[in-house]
Amino acid sequence: MKSAAEWREILIEVNQAGGCAHPIRLQGNRLERVNGELVDTGIVVPCKDRRAAVCPSCSRLYQADAWQLVAAGIRGGKGVSPDVIDHPQLFVTLTAPSFGPVHSRSRSGTVGRPCRPRRGAPSCPHGVSMACNERHPDGDPALGEPLCADCFDYRGVVLWNAHVPALWERTSSELYRAVAKAGHLSTKDVRSMVRLSYMKVVEFQRRGLVHLHVVIRADGRDGPSEQAPTWLGLELLIAAVNDAVGRATVAVPAVGGTPLSRASWGAERDVRVLVPSQSGDSTAIAAYVAKYATKTADGTPWLAHPIRSRAQLERLVLRPHIVRLVREAWTLGQHKELHSLRLQAHAHTLGYTGQFSSKSLRFSTTFGALRQARVLHVKGVRDDALDFDGEWRYAGRGYVHPESNQVAATLLEATAGGLQEFHTTSTNSSTTP
Ligand SMILES: [Zn+2]
Ligand SMILES: [Zn+2]
Ligand SMILES: [Zn+2]
Repeated sequence: MKSAAEWREILIEVNQAGGCAHPIRLQGNRLERVNGELVDTGIVVPCKDRRAAVCPSCSRLYQADAWQLVAAGIRGGKGVSPDVIDHPQLFVTLTAPSFGPVHSRSRSGTVGRPCRPRRGAPSCPHGVSMACNERHPDGDPALGEPLCADCFDYRGVVLWNAHVPALWERTSSELYRAVAKAGHLSTKDVRSMVRLSYMKVVEFQRRGLVHLHVVIRADGRDGPSEQAPTWLGLELLIAAVNDAVGRATVAVPAVGGTPLSRASWGAERDVRVLVPSQSGDSTAIAAYVAKYATKTADGTPWLAHPIRSRAQLERLVLRPHIVRLVREAWTLGQHKELHSLRLQAHAHTLGYTGQFSSKSLRFSTTFGALRQARVLHVKGVRDDALDFDGEWRYAGRGYVHPESNQVAATLLEATAGGLQEFHTTSTNSSTTP
């Protein structure tokens, strides 16, 4: 039986770490406020991992911050001018091309439709029929699995994922060019009067390919406080996005006869007008973006950290399709021609080499500013503990008291209802698995 004093220590510890599931223990000297002396002490601090599969508690804070960040970029607040509400804004989903047929739910989202009805469909060279008349329900493990794994272009997927950051870079510069073309101006002139800001987040589909969800906003040169020129309206912006997305390609280095030599976006894309003044639009989109900001490549903790060795790779307990993609990335990482992509370091992200969420400089506030505001808000808890002199040394992971884990988990469960709005998504963007 624990004494009241022991329970108090447990609660202090859990509070100090913000309910984190895997806090970091630090040992160091703390400045005693009363007599100004340095005292040898230990503290626990949150792991601050954004991934829900790693730390549900810290990821929830991250998700809340991501939500604030996107919402501020859409409707202003948190230091962003409220004028942005009248600037042209779009919510764009960019997809990957096909690397072989996979089992999927029908695009309209109705459950009743067959996966891949093809009358008299041929079989592949491996004898697998290229038709599927199943009506896959939500959560069906078959979703995202290739009809024939031997035909599926695993190498193409990894190389495509690896080039998404470069492809996005190209797309965003093509976007200025497309706006210039539509406005009958030079790109240089447009850059001197328009600023295109964005926030993007990565979604891993079940087939292992990356999709981007992007909020794009057109401002005047000075950013949120300045209107875009009047000729740059929503219609022009939509046309420019479609033009830029269709045009953007990047070169992919050739290795051992890969069929892919350029990477471009898939034909399927969703470009919708964002109306921030319409209640619900900004909150729903912000929730949608924030949800993806806390995922790992396959939603499990297995792919939360880089793979260190082939032996570790062989121990992964995941869908065979995902394991095969990880293995492909690992193997491709050995090719000289692909060295700069660092594919082994990105095997756990199926070759994807970029950030899970990122934004342009002037889109909104920053994660740092939001965190700072929160620390000030809960003054007396965590920043007081960090009021130190000298250096903290890493002293291990996990709580000092084993009971603290249970307390942290219980607190997390008890507060789960408060943040449910982050889990409700109501966008109709086309997301095929
Ligand atoms: Zn944590
Ligand atoms: Zn199917
Ligand atoms: Zn086949």
